[in-house]
Amino acid sequence: MERLTGAGVSPGAGYGPAYLLGGTIPEPPAGSRHDGDPVGETARAEAAVDRVAAELSARGEAVGGDAHDVLAAQAMIARDPVLSAEIAELIDAGTAAERAVYEAFSRYHDMLAEIGGYIGQRVSDLDDLRDRVIAQLTGVPMPGLPEPAERPYVLVARDLAPADTVLLTKELVAAFVTEQGGPTSHTAILARAMGVPAVVACAGATSIVNGTPVLVDGTTGMVGLVPSEEEVAASIEAANARGSALASATGPGRTADGHPVALLANVGGPRDLAAALEYGAEGVGLYRTEFLFFDREQAPSDEEQEAAYREVLAAFPGAPVVVRVLDAGADKPLGFLPPTGDEPNPALGERGLRILRIFPDVMMGQLRALARAAEGTSARLQVMAPMVASAEEAGWFAGACRAAGITSAGIMIEIPAAALRAADLAPAVDFFSIGTNDLAQYVFAADREVGALTPYQDPWQPVLLDLVATAASAGVPCGVCGEAASDPALACVLAGLGVTSLSMGAPALPWVRATLARHTLDQCRAAAAAARATSTAEAARAAARSHLPGLEDLAL
Ligand code: PEP
Ligand code: MG
Repeated sequence: MERLTGAGVSPGAGYGPAYLLGGTIPEPPAGSRHDGDPVGETARAEAAVDRVAAELSARGEAVGGDAHDVLAAQAMIARDPVLSAEIAELIDAGTAAERAVYEAFSRYHDMLAEIGGYIGQRVSDLDDLRDRVIAQLTGVPMPGLPEPAERPYVLVARDLAPADTVLLTKELVAAFVTEQGGPTSHTAILARAMGVPAVVACAGATSIVNGTPVLVDGTTGMVGLVPSEEEVAASIEAANARGSALASATGPGRTADGHPVALLANVGGPRDLAAALEYGAEGVGLYRTEFLFFDREQAPSDEEQEAAYREVLAAFPGAPVVVRVLDAGADKPLGFLPPTGDEPNPALGERGLRILRIFPDVMMGQLRALARAAEGTSARLQVMAPMVASAEEAGWFAGACRAAGITSAGIMIEIPAAALRAADLAPAVDFFSIGTNDLAQYVFAADREVGALTPYQDPWQPVLLDLVATAASAGVPCGVCGEAASDPALACVLAGLGVTSLSMGAPALPWVRATLARHTLDQCRAAAAAARATSTAEAARAAARSHLPGLEDLAL
């Protein structure tokens, strides 16, 4: 079979026909003219608009809920008579239908953007609509998720935005392959949460022809085109065999000599709970609440929030549940929490706690909804803020938590300034949770969403281990909830650095549990010291391995 190679970021083997996420639609060339039949051309444009509106309405009916309202509103905008009049006028003047659609939507876009506020925030919907109508007219694939008849299929994309993925399930998708993205991109996080194999940073992925049978190995990063039946069977059998070796590790996280390291799950909402429980999570270490609200233009109601939070808290009686307040901005934009202005570098802009300080009412609403949700459950609610840089910010957030009746307030350590001065921040809070994904992004000034920069995201970089060591020795309990925690060998190193809990996508829990159980705390400490004594990620990995003999038993 022909092979492509990328970075395996979610283990296991997946097989199915490949389908490409519709890409960007090129702008129809300025000045394109039709062949002199304005009536026919207008009818063609109208038919395309109608088709797009009808498809959106039908999809909304099928999904129901909030998605229905969003799609119905989009269909209504597409049918706006102001837009059709504008398109017809341009076509009358000789412009080809595709270009007329492009120009009419652009004018409408500018008009809405100028109005600003809630209406202004709808402009990205308008761009999506425009692209759909142009795709319809030009016969190129529609932007957005493919809808093939065969399921599950292998979803191939240049990259996946969280908004593309909210509707995906394991039944629908056998594996993910993306050309961009690194091990901490949201494709990787989502895939691990779903337990679906994934390969990212895979050059040439988007040239796979739709419908091609593809075998994806999310451990090795191999993407095989048109594999034989034997190749598929062998690959799936090997993945299953390793799976059953792991099933034997049960119970709470401990080293071989009984040092406890709580093993927690990262969840994006109630839909991830079944996997967290199935894989034996001892609680939740990171509840990414913004995942609940990606499709919203307005803040969700207090009642809706409370219900979603209560569902997660109720699933873990007596256990810790660490909830992160909304981490909006950059790679996780939320329509109802926009930054104040244009941001040339969104990852360095207003995101996380910085945005919440602009919208304190939204944050207080969320904190109160969390406090109410915890009443009547025995879960131990802990709440933390993302993107905290200073002791002043940490203190401000902890004060807000206390005002809302939350007794355990923490912060994420994901900015180098906070890690280096962790001892200054610690007195303000009850706990730390290290977000190694962003910490790597900021310590190397390397955008985590850019596939070409993947090597900088390698959590084995000794500088990252140094920062973890500093934060973990600042005097408050310190977990790791970035993707580093899901690498079994690195999990031992993190335990050796003094980290008290590890939180990860649920399917990684058995691997980490089994690996920790095979090593003593002293071995973990020796592995950590050896890794820190090197100067590259590769050397750190190799040095740590020499102190972790149990990795071999698990074929890791
Ligand atoms: C992190 O940055 O490591 C983290 C856990 O948060 P997120 O990936 O959601 O930014
Ligand atoms: Mg982060």
